[in-house]
Amino acid sequence: MAVPRIAIGGIEHETAGLLPGETPMSVFDRRRLPADQLLQRPGDANTVVDGYLHGARGREWEIAPLIWIKGTSGPPASRETFDAMLGELLDDLRRGGPVDGVLLSLHGSFAAEGIDDADGAVLQAVRDQVGPDVPLMSVHDLHCNLTEAMINPADALAVMRTYPHVDMRERALHVTDLMGETLAGRLRPTMAFRQLPLLWSAPRMIDAEPPMSEAVARVVEANNRPGVVSASLGVGYQWVDSPAVGTSTVVVTDDDLAAARVEADAMADWVWDRRSDWISQTMTPGEALALGDAQGAYPIVLADQADNTGGGAPGDGTEVLRMFIRDGREPSVVLYVVDAEAAAQAHEAGEGAVIDVQVGGRSHTDLGPPVHMRAVVEGLCDGNFVYDGPMWKGVSDSVGPTAWLKQGGVSVVVISLPQQPVDLALCHMLGMEPKEFRYICVKSTGHFRSGFEPVAGSIYNVDAKGLLSQSFSDLPFTRLGRAMYPLDEAAAKGF
Ligand SMILES: [Zn+2]
Repeated sequence: MAVPRIAIGGIEHETAGLLPGETPMSVFDRRRLPADQLLQRPGDANTVVDGYLHGARGREWEIAPLIWIKGTSGPPASRETFDAMLGELLDDLRRGGPVDGVLLSLHGSFAAEGIDDADGAVLQAVRDQVGPDVPLMSVHDLHCNLTEAMINPADALAVMRTYPHVDMRERALHVTDLMGETLAGRLRPTMAFRQLPLLWSAPRMIDAEPPMSEAVARVVEANNRPGVVSASLGVGYQWVDSPAVGTSTVVVTDDDLAAARVEADAMADWVWDRRSDWISQTMTPGEALALGDAQGAYPIVLADQADNTGGGAPGDGTEVLRMFIRDGREPSVVLYVVDAEAAAQAHEAGEGAVIDVQVGGRSHTDLGPPVHMRAVVEGLCDGNFVYDGPMWKGVSDSVGPTAWLKQGGVSVVVISLPQQPVDLALCHMLGMEPKEFRYICVKSTGHFRSGFEPVAGSIYNVDAKGLLSQSFSDLPFTRLGRAMYPLDEAAAKGF
C-alpha cells in the first residue's frame, strides 16, 4: 500500500438526559476545532485526538483531518445541532478524498433529541460513507454506554481504563496500533461485546483503589490472553436515562469471533458476580465533615458529586458554601461556582474591592437560594488557562471571567462558563494555593483527583443538593427500559 491516508476527528458529548432543556450549538462551539486546524496541533496533549495524531505521524501516515468538537456535559443536543455536527464531520471526510482508515474520538454516552444512541448514529453514518472495507475504530470514555449500534459499524472500539481519565492518549495509541496492524494485513479485528443491566456508583470507579483497581486488573488480564488484541470495560453513564444505559465489556480478537465472545462473557460474568461491590452508599456533607474532622487528615476535600459540572450539572449549588459560612469552617474554599453575574460584578469592582454579592443558586430551585456575601475580591483572571495535572496536561481551556471571593476565612471561586476543577492550574492563576485550606469543596466526582489528590489529606464524595445524585433510587429514571441492578435487586444479567 502507498502511504496510508487516515481520517482523524470526533464529536464528544456526555449527555445527561435527566437534565431539563437541550444543549445548543453554542456549547459545542466552545471547544470546536475545525478540520484545517487539527493538523496544526503538536499532538502532545493528553487527549484521544492528540494520541491519534502522534501515533499517525510516528508511522508517517497522511492525515485527513475532520472536525473535532467536544461539548461540556449537559442535556441532549438539539436535533438541529446534532445534524449540523455530523454533517460537518461527513463533509470533512468527503472533502479529504478516499481514506484507508478512520480513527474517531467519541464519548459513548451521547444522546440527541430523538436519538438515544448518537455515537452509534455517528459510527453508522461514517461507515455508510466510507463503505464496508475501510477500517473504522474509536476510543470511548470510561463512562460509555456501549450498544450493538456502536459495535456493528466499527472494526474495533477501546475504552479508557482510568478515572480520572489519565490514559486518553495511551488508549488512542493502542487503537492506532490496531489500525496499523490491520492496514498491514496482520490483523482482522473481530469484536464481541456484552452489556449488563448494572448501574455503577461513581466513587467505585476510581481506578487507583479497590474495588475498581481489581476490575482494571481483570481487564488487563483478559487483554493479555492469547488471541486477544484488545479488552475493555465501560462502566456506563446513568444520567442519560435511555435504553442504552449499562455496563459493558468489549473484546477484539484476530478473526476469532468465538474467542472474542468467550472473553467478553467471562469479563461480564466477573463483573456481575461482584455487582454489589460497584455500589456505594451516599453521604451528606455534614456526615462527611464529621468523619473527616474525627480522622483529622487535612485538607478535607468534599467532592460535591451531585452538582458535578463535569457531568452536566449547573455547578451553582450553594449548600456546602452556606454550610462553611454557617459553621465557621475556615479556612475553606468552594471550587468553582458557575456564576457569570457574580464574576462580572467582581471584575467591575476590581481586585481588593469589597462587594456585596449574591453567589450561585440561580439555575434551579433545588440548588439555591443564592448566598449573600460581603466579600473581598481576592483575585481575578480572564479564565484562559492550560491544565497542568496528569489528566488534561497541555490542554487549553476557558471558563470566562473568574474571581476569587473571600468573606472572612471562607473563599469561593466563581467562573462564568461551566467546568469542573480538574487540577490546580486555574487556582494558581488567581494566586491561590489550595493546600493552605482546611476544607475544600470541588464540584467534581472523580476528575479533580488529577490535581487535587496530591494536596488532599482526605477525600469524601458527598451528595449535597444537586441534579446528579448518586442515590440511584432517588433519580427520576423513566427510560431505562428494563430491570437494572441495584434499582431492582432481582435484575437478571440477561445472557
Ligand atoms: Zn468520563
